[in-house]
Amino acid sequence: MKAAVLEEFNAPLNVTDVPDPVLTDDGAIISVQACGICRSDWHGWKGEWTGFLAPLPMVGGHEMSGIVTEVGKNVHKVKPGDRVIVPFTCGDGTCQACLEGNSNVCEHQTMPGFTYNGGFAEYAHVPTADFNLIPLPEEVEFAQASGMGCRFMTAYHGVLSVGKVQPGEWISVYGSGGVGLSAIQIATAAGANVIAIDIADDKLDFARKVGAVHTINSMNTDAAEAVRDLTHGGADVSVDALGINATLLSSLKSVKRKGRAVQIGMTPMGADGLIPLDVNDIIANEISYLGSFGMPRAEFPRLLNQVATGKLTPGDLVTGETSLGGIIDVYNDMSNFKVNGVTVITDFTK
Ligand SMILES: [Zn+2]
Ligand SMILES: [Zn+2]
Repeated sequence: MKAAVLEEFNAPLNVTDVPDPVLTDDGAIISVQACGICRSDWHGWKGEWTGFLAPLPMVGGHEMSGIVTEVGKNVHKVKPGDRVIVPFTCGDGTCQACLEGNSNVCEHQTMPGFTYNGGFAEYAHVPTADFNLIPLPEEVEFAQASGMGCRFMTAYHGVLSVGKVQPGEWISVYGSGGVGLSAIQIATAAGANVIAIDIADDKLDFARKVGAVHTINSMNTDAAEAVRDLTHGGADVSVDALGINATLLSSLKSVKRKGRAVQIGMTPMGADGLIPLDVNDIIANEISYLGSFGMPRAEFPRLLNQVATGKLTPGDLVTGETSLGGIIDVYNDMSNFKVNGVTVITDFTK
């Protein structure tokens, strides 16, 4: 099969023929129909996440959807021909966290494109397939579905389950990339008023298109102060979708007394990711600082119901389709922060 192989960090991927994945008794093989290119892939490609990434050479890609072609002998729920999405937070289905419905924080978590070969290929193997493969409704196209295993589901869980956003609340969202735009659309659909913050005007224009009622360019403005002015005292909920020092601290400062600050964007691994917080401010104002990671499979039915009926439209965030050979161009644009919206691989032949 064709695959885009990561052989060396920060260098062009090798689009070449590799052996097909090997089926396991609990796993399934899917024919990948669409796979999003995400900033997390870029972090892996840059060599920033080496402690966690499988040894090179390996195949990235964790935002995949496709059609099941083969299942192992212990797999009974999914079958060849099923249309499926793969969440990037795959669980073992048996640990305490999974049994409690929280597979996104599984004790033995695996991730396509990071801990095993992912969807930048014609075929991918998914372990523990009965638990991890999510049936995709007929109404939802593959290109639209590919971001649902990562950025869209992450925003859905962060906004609704962790942030518990309510109708009429003010939400500030830092970063208008894939997760940020998803969070804006989802919070807007939940009846909240969203303020989008970014440093690029074209991204803020996109943020308005998916529902933001105000936008702030934080290049020359104190965004937290602007949010506090617009909301007369602070947002009910703030989401940091980026995870750098400036956005994390500004997001925390944007919430009102008793507000909730949801941290979705991951900071760099190691010492660079340790960011000093004003703990006394968090205590004195009873701020809830909440981590949010991926989405448990238990929440998928609700998300899919809203997508299948058109109440949420993750396809609106897709701005381009490309081939395996086009991944490197998207990575280079990500290095220069030139990406607007989401690019999806739909051609796996070259
Ligand atoms: Zn992703
Ligand atoms: Zn588990």
